[in-house]
Amino acid sequence: MWRVYCTDCGEAVLLDCSQLTSVVNLEPGVIAVEMRCTRGHPIPVLTGHTIGEQAWTQRS
Ligand SMILES: [Zn+2]
Repeated sequence: MWRVYCTDCGEAVLLDCSQLTSVVNLEPGVIAVEMRCTRGHPIPVLTGHTIGEQAWTQRS
């Protein structure tokens, strides 16, 4: 599960793999992930080896 910040809801939400809508490798070490919050708002997240673990928490 991931804790990400939804700008539409204005709060951090806890999401699991079923709320992943797309995963795209932009370049080696950089992955663009799109998730949907429980209310259906799209949440884009950059992650991957180059971005680092803080990408998941810096938006919260
Ligand atoms: Zn939301």
